Parts: sequence; structure tokens; C-alpha cells
Amino acid sequence: MPTYVYRCTTCGDTEQVFPMSRKPESVTCPDCRGTAVSAFTSPHLGAGSGTAFGVIDATKKTADSPPVVSRIPSTGRRSQPVSRDPRHAKLPRA
Ligand SMILES: [Zn+2]
Repeated sequence: MPTYVYRCTTCGDTEQVFPMSRKPESVTCPDCRGTAVSAFTSPHLGAGSGTAFGVIDATKKTADSPPVVSRIPSTGRRSQPVSRDPRHAKLPRA
């Protein structure tokens, strides 16, 4: 969930976490119980972790351009018998 910054005129900034769809325009200041108004219109998502953004970018990339399959994947069964020994052909098949 994104972190939103609210500014109290007495105490300064306080950070609150809300779901993006339920972000109030003002909150009760945790220090003075006054009103703290939303300081930024857009949420700052995360702290800018390189690893986290790398994962997000990679996830978005697979959604936009998924890896293309250029040939039919192997079924795992060989069309040619593995052994040419005729006695092996008489063995019961699993
Ligand atoms: Zn306050």
C-alpha cells in the first residue's frame, strides 16, 4: 500500500498508509490530535529500492512482451525406440 504524507500545521509531516482508493484528504494528527492535511497529491510509492523496481519492471515486461515460443515444445516421448534390441520390444509397456 502506498504511503501518504500529511502535514500538521503544528507538528509537521506525518506518514500514513492507506489503500489507494481510500486515501482521505485529511487525517487526525497522531501527536496533537489536530487536523493534518494531505501534503502531496500523488503518493510516493516505496522508497525507491532498486531491487523492488527491478522486479516490478521485469513483471511489467512479461505482461507487455511475453517470451515467444518459436517451436513446439518436446513432448518427452521419442518417436524412435531407444533400444534396437528386439528383446526390449517384447517387454510390457508402462
Ligand atoms: Zn499535530
